[in-house]
Amino acid sequence: MKKTIEKLAGDTEGVSYELTVFRFKGTSKTAPSAYIQAALHAGELPGVVAVHALMPLLRKAEAEGRILGDITIVPAANPVGRAQFLFGEVEGRFHLGTRTNFNRDFPLIDRPNKNALPPANPMATADVRLKRLLVELSMGHDIVLDLHCDFESVPYLYVPAQLWPAMQDCAGAMGVDAVILWDGASGAAFEEAAIHPYLQMPPEQAGFDRRVVTTVEYRGLGDVYEKYAKSDAEGLYRVLATRGVIADEKAAKPRKFTGIAAPIDHVEMVDMPRAGAILFHVEPGQHVRKGARLATIVHTPGEPDGSVDVLAPQAGYVFTRVVGRSGRAGDNLIKMIGEKRSADARSGALEA
Ligand SMILES: [Zn+2]
Repeated sequence: MKKTIEKLAGDTEGVSYELTVFRFKGTSKTAPSAYIQAALHAGELPGVVAVHALMPLLRKAEAEGRILGDITIVPAANPVGRAQFLFGEVEGRFHLGTRTNFNRDFPLIDRPNKNALPPANPMATADVRLKRLLVELSMGHDIVLDLHCDFESVPYLYVPAQLWPAMQDCAGAMGVDAVILWDGASGAAFEEAAIHPYLQMPPEQAGFDRRVVTTVEYRGLGDVYEKYAKSDAEGLYRVLATRGVIADEKAAKPRKFTGIAAPIDHVEMVDMPRAGAILFHVEPGQHVRKGARLATIVHTPGEPDGSVDVLAPQAGYVFTRVVGRSGRAGDNLIKMIGEKRSADARSGALEA
């Protein structure tokens, strides 16, 4: 294993950032290679601790000569966001300087080649240069995993529709509860940048059966526990074994994916009808019928008609809810996977 430190200049004098990259060299030229990064949204730490728990498994595999394909690991992909503290809270989702989401506006290139990247621009802000660097580090890997988390959530994946159902083995290996299939545009999320070059090729050249690209949502922001870190690390390790990056017959044993897979236009973004305090009646992981009470919003406390119920727009599966207990009108409250296409489908927009 080789460790390198990538340096990234900051936007002002005296400020710079460091990014640790671990690389394991595979022994086989034909084995698939893998890239794993965590905390692109810098406050989302379940993936960071999962990678920390994965590293000893990789070191052991390396010591035993079982690493077949190259593996690149970036345990904390966004030192720029990690340093953005505002009134005591980390702002890891948006770059303060440009107000841009760290998981949007990645360069979308037409072939998996460094020459296809836009030229490095010293005038660009640190977030823009970080995105270029991450695309460069991930480029050419057959398996690209971007580890995030939601607010309060079941473990689930975003997967490009072109890679499904071929990626069922990975969903089974990771043991996630749901898979959202997206097609088209995502606002250039990292995941889209990773698959984009291959979507420009004829399918027989793109090697979709060998390719894995996903945004992994490891539950909620607060789900940073040793038990999840360990089980998620084992899940990541099983993906690598299942796809032949690591030789491990036991870990490669197929596990059936038993969760829900649905196109992104089945996702119901259930929003706050009024500003107020939120009383949830459902949790992530629950199935609901049409018209079920999902939450009550207390908008005018003390008045007899001071609250309003939020009902399920159709039958489905609640997979996320917000972490706060107050909100404004129009803020998202719950995401659920409907049995049918949503009447309000916002297709293509990853929420990662
Ligand atoms: Zn995220």
